[in-house]
Amino acid sequence: MALKDYCFDGKRQLKLKEMPTDAGEYKVQKSDLVALTEANMTQAAMLQEKLYAAKREGLVFALQARDAAGKDSLIKKVFSHLNPAGLKITSFKVPNKTDLAHDYMWRINRAMPERGTIGVFNRSHYEDVLVVQVHQMQKDYILAPRCLTEDFFERRYRQLNNWEEYLWENGFRMVKVFLNVSKEEQKNRFMDRMELTEKHWKLSVGDMKERALWDEYERVFEDCINATATEHAPWYVLPADNKWYTRYLMSEIILRTLEDMDPQFPPLNAEEAAKIPMAMQELENE
Ligand code: ATP
Ligand code: MG
Repeated sequence: MALKDYCFDGKRQLKLKEMPTDAGEYKVQKSDLVALTEANMTQAAMLQEKLYAAKREGLVFALQARDAAGKDSLIKKVFSHLNPAGLKITSFKVPNKTDLAHDYMWRINRAMPERGTIGVFNRSHYEDVLVVQVHQMQKDYILAPRCLTEDFFERRYRQLNNWEEYLWENGFRMVKVFLNVSKEEQKNRFMDRMELTEKHWKLSVGDMKERALWDEYERVFEDCINATATEHAPWYVLPADNKWYTRYLMSEIILRTLEDMDPQFPPLNAEEAAKIPMAMQELENE
C-alpha cells in the first residue's frame, strides 16, 4: 500500500475493518524502512528549519488512538528527530474543571503552535467526539438545554470542520493520524504492562474497561473520521501493530506534508543587504 492508501481526505469512505493493522507485505523490508525513516526525518528537519525561518505557516499533527497503540513512543522515536525549539507537544488528558467551564476548543486553541513551528497533539479536540460520544458524557455536562440537542455530535463534527478550515485559511495545517492497533496486539501490550516492572507505570486498569467497548469505539472512530476527513485537514489511518512500520509511515507523512508546504528561507530585505559589504569590510579590518 502506498501512503495515499492510508489517507482519507473526504473523497472516499473509510471502512475500518478493511484497513490493515500491521505491516503486511512490507515485513520483509523492515531494515530498509527503518533506514528510510531516519533519512526521511533528516530531510524533514531541514525543511523544519526553513519553516521556522519563513514563519508563514504552522503545522499540527493530532494523534488519536486506542490505549497502547503507541502514541507516546511515536513522539519519542519520530518527532525527536526534529529541532525541539520548533516543536510544541501537548498531551490532552481528562478535562479539568476550568477546561469544562469553557467551550471544548478553549484548551485546544491555547495549545496551538505559532506559525513557523510544529505542534503535536497527543490526543486532541477529537476526544470531544470520541470518548465523549462512546460514554455519552455530554449528558452530564452543565450546559444550556438548547446546546444538548439530538444532533450534538453532528454539530460538533461541523464545528471541527469549520475550525480546521478556519485554521487553513489563517496559515495553519492540521493533519490527523489514527493509530490502528489490533485487538490481539493491544492485549499483548497490556500483558507486557502487567508483567514487566519497567512498564508498570503505564498500566491503567481503566484502559482495560475501554477495551470492553472495542466495537463501539470502532463504530465511533469510523463515523468521526468519515465526517471530518477533508482535503485541507486529512486523516491518516496507520497500521500500529508493528511500531517500526508506523514510524516509517509517520516519517513519510511529516516529510510529504512539509514538502507540500514548501517553506523557503526568506530573502534579506534590501536595506539589510545593502549593509553587508560595509559589515564585511569591518570584520576584515579587525
Ligand atoms: P498514557 O496512558 O500513555 O500516559 P494517555 O493519553 O492514555 O497516555 P491518560 O491520562 O492515561 O493518558 O488518559 C487520558 C484520558 O483522558 C483518556 O482516557 C482520554 O480518553 C481522556 N480524555 C482526553 N480528552 C478528553 C475529553 N475531552 N473528554 C473526556 N475525556 C478525555
Ligand atoms: Mg492511558
